[in-house]
Amino acid sequence: MSERKVRVRFAPSPTGPLHIGGVRTALYNYLFARQNNGELVFRIEDTDSHRFVPGAEDYIIESFRWLGIKFDEGVSFGGNHGPYRQSERRNIYKKYVQQLLDEGKAYYAFDTPEELEAKRSEVQNFQYDAHTRMQMRNSLTMDAAECERRMAEGEQFTVRFKVEPGREIRVNDMIRGEVVIKSDILDDKVLYKSADELPTYHLANIVDDHLMEITHVIRGEEWLPSAPLHVLLYEAFGWADTMPRFAHLPLLLKPEGKGKLSKRDGDRLGFPVFPLEWHDPKTGEVSSGYRESGYFPEAVVNFLALLGWNPGTEQELFTLEELVSAFDISKCSKAGAKFDYQKGIWFNHEYILKKSDDEIARLFAPIVAGNGVDETFDRVKQVVHMMKDRVNFVHELWPLCSFFFIAPTEYDEKTVKKRWKDYSAQQMAELAGVLQGIEDFSVEGQEPVVMQWVEAKGYKLGDVMNAFRLALVGIGKGPGMFDISAFLGKEETLKRLQRAIEVLK
Ligand code: GLU
Repeated sequence: MSERKVRVRFAPSPTGPLHIGGVRTALYNYLFARQNNGELVFRIEDTDSHRFVPGAEDYIIESFRWLGIKFDEGVSFGGNHGPYRQSERRNIYKKYVQQLLDEGKAYYAFDTPEELEAKRSEVQNFQYDAHTRMQMRNSLTMDAAECERRMAEGEQFTVRFKVEPGREIRVNDMIRGEVVIKSDILDDKVLYKSADELPTYHLANIVDDHLMEITHVIRGEEWLPSAPLHVLLYEAFGWADTMPRFAHLPLLLKPEGKGKLSKRDGDRLGFPVFPLEWHDPKTGEVSSGYRESGYFPEAVVNFLALLGWNPGTEQELFTLEELVSAFDISKCSKAGAKFDYQKGIWFNHEYILKKSDDEIARLFAPIVAGNGVDETFDRVKQVVHMMKDRVNFVHELWPLCSFFFIAPTEYDEKTVKKRWKDYSAQQMAELAGVLQGIEDFSVEGQEPVVMQWVEAKGYKLGDVMNAFRLALVGIGKGPGMFDISAFLGKEETLKRLQRAIEVLK
């Protein structure tokens, strides 16, 4: 086989918001394409009109734009293998369905849904296949004239693929190795439905992968059962020599317990399972998204990349570029990957640390302003520098940092009980006097002077610092005391001390 340019595709059905597992599938396709100098196609598989959800396609496109996962061609990106929406490719599919019919590899079936239902309740584990197809109403059991008459009268029909029994089908999977399946267990899958004049997923998927020159199919494990049929379809069309290689990715599993990750796990444990917030157009229900929850796209990408694959080293932090060179599809695990959402939070924290103070301050400044505080960017940045290692998300900064900008109006009761002693007011009044006399109010300027005074007086350092903190912050927590007072400046520090002395006595 001649070397073909690597072409992969991400082919979601627009049936709702993109699940986080789908994001990982797209990411792996992206990494595989990039590292092989290949191309990534974005195809919309919308042949199931009943499950179509308006807005889903735009949602998916916006998700990848946010994540920085770029497609080379496809819906909204252009390219010369289009159209890329399956609902716009009806005529193409018709031709290929006809080819299989003409060659006797598929047949018309007229069984109504009710008849099929009756059959299923009558025969246990009924399967429409080589053993049963001759008992059914189809073009194998009825003569051509009869079939034509029914079609002319507008009777609905389907086209079914004729699976020959007694064959061993080999699926060559880059993760699972060679998977061998007996054709006997397959049913004669419906390839086309006259009712909506559209093919089913299976036919459209194969025809498009072929016409779009796809070389590797990387998709979720839930599609593994379809793979043998897909192999048979490739052969039936005479395309076996350009059959893509498969890679079926491990499932994403619940963070705890068994089974696959569901939206309910997210609701129950409080983490998003969708990249962006989703507003259900029918129910109005809102589901949380990684973007709106304050995650960085780089953190989400990094987190997802390591769910089902690992580099075989200790390295955990990867840029997208680094992932492109480190990723190895053959090293993906076969077993499902536990969706450790806490790890996702950890990644976000790491990216807060990794990003510059400037970048975090640019995100935090509007929050500060939104709380009615008028501060210079530089001062916001100073606060970010002191506090960013304490948060996992930018939005966690405000509750932790508001005291830098707004003087406390109340003092935490418990802290007062524990830390404001009978002599605290007296000590704070003295401290105010000491601070008053300090010219250089930087950390380095204050610290030795205050220390000297504490020592000279024989006070307990802890007592002084605890009361000082309570006066300036209002609670018993925060960064280094002199970092705080230096940031506030002499005037504000003295004002806060004064007020605490008056209120707490
Ligand atoms: N439309 C399928 C999906 O929604 C595509 C599966 C495949 O990649 O073949 O995931």
